[in-house]
This record gives sequence, C-alpha cells and structure tokens, in this order.
Amino acid sequence: MSTAARVRVDHTVTSGIFSLDGQSFDVDNNVWVVGDDEECVVIDAPHDAEEIMAVVAGRRVKAILCTHAHDDHVREAPQLRAQTQAPIFLHPDDRPLWEMTHPRELWDVDLADGQVVDVAGVDLEVIHTPGHAPGAVCFHAPALRCVFTGDTLFNGGPGATGRSFSDYDTIVASIRGRLFELPDDTVVHTGHGDDTTIAAEQANLA
Ligand SMILES: [Zn+2]
Repeated sequence: MSTAARVRVDHTVTSGIFSLDGQSFDVDNNVWVVGDDEECVVIDAPHDAEEIMAVVAGRRVKAILCTHAHDDHVREAPQLRAQTQAPIFLHPDDRPLWEMTHPRELWDVDLADGQVVDVAGVDLEVIHTPGHAPGAVCFHAPALRCVFTGDTLFNGGPGATGRSFSDYDTIVASIRGRLFELPDDTVVHTGHGDDTTIAAEQANLA
C-alpha cells in the first residue's frame, strides 16, 4: 500500500465560544487530524482538548498546526501541547491575536509560506493566506487531494472579514491568487461547517 493510502483524515466538531472586539458568539469548530495508525498532526485546537485527544486515539502527535490565532482555534493548544509534548505551529503575523488568548505563553514553531510539514510520509504544504487574519494559513496535502483552509475559505465563500485584523480585499486576493491555483477537484476541509471543493468555490465567487 502506498504511503498516501495509509494516511487518513479524521475529524470531530467541538462547540464553544468565539470572542473578539468585545463580542462573543457560539460556534462549532472542525478539528482535523491527519495521519496513519502511528502518528498524526492536529489542525486547530478549539474548545475541548479531551474531544481532540479522543480522535488522536493514542497516536503520537507530531505537531499542533494552527490555521490562525482566533481564540476558537487556539484555546486548547497549550493544553494539548502539555498532554502530547507536540510543538505548536503558528504564523507569526497572528501574534497580536494569540496574545489576546494566551498572554503568558507562546507557540513553538513559526509557520511560513512554502514550508512543508511531513506526517506519516505525506506532505502538508503551508500556504500563507492573509485576510481573515494576518497570519492565516492553509495546509495543502497534494497526495490526499485536499486542503485545510481554516476560516479563509468556507463552503459558500470567503471567511468573515468584519472584525479587527481582517480585510476583505486581502482575503479575496489570497483565495483567488493562491487557493484557486490548486487543482479543481481538491477537497476543502474548512474551519467551520461542511466540506466543499476548489471548483465549487470558484463558481461561488465568480
Ligand atoms: Zn477565525
């Protein structure tokens, strides 16, 4: 069996609060766990470390990858790090957002555009996609024909840009210039809500 055939994408949804600019909202967040039977990476750490650890199911966690630093995506990252000894990865442009949630502790590894994170022999390529947040990134797994977009691209269009540190023109430039360059049939695993594809979102944004 090829490496990619052994690697799977597991998923759970956790519920909690997103807070920014003095407002709070009830939200359901997707958590994506990519790996094989031995090792995995966790993409985003919202609300409930125990629910995330249930998906990890005893495997070695190589990395905690944050798509951006809104509190509903990084709240449990330090707790998860303490439980797994895995480093937290975040793009440094999201430091102001991170510090709102975790003022006394930092992440471990800076993410950068073009960086590759390997898990179980599959590459996750980091695409810096500012707009929803300055340090928002997507993780493209060519071998799995999917991309993890956080809150940059949803089923139905771009992520929200109405609050601090967000910009609509910037997110649209990121989506058109970077995500729409991926193969049409790439499955989009989002930060909230249902999957979509690059082709479907190209039609939505046209
Ligand atoms: Zn967000």
